[in-house]
Amino acid sequence: MNEYPVKKCKVCEVDFAPKNRLKIYCSKECEKKAQKMRYHENYIKRPAFTDKKCAMCGADYKGARNQLFCSDKCRKKKRVIDQTKYRNKILGRFPAGKQLIEF
Ligand SMILES: [Zn+2]
Ligand SMILES: [Zn+2]
Repeated sequence: MNEYPVKKCKVCEVDFAPKNRLKIYCSKECEKKAQKMRYHENYIKRPAFTDKKCAMCGADYKGARNQLFCSDKCRKKKRVIDQTKYRNKILGRFPAGKQLIEF
């Protein structure tokens, strides 16, 4: 008795009865294989560097895909701002609308 319709494994193309509706592979081995394939594909497709805009100073630069800032300086600056905002929120010292921080 199966609650879910039989599916075809995307890796080995064997028909299997999924134990839950999210399952798309027949076995853990196939799941791992698919993961590896996906990782490999992404790795090949991904350019080493891509055009980015710094989230801090807005400068155009070339950086890694997961990079947010043009430099260490901007990364640290952003962290200080975040920490200050967080602290202001926690302390609740400043009335709403007056939490602007000058840098
Ligand atoms: Zn399979
Ligand atoms: Zn920057």
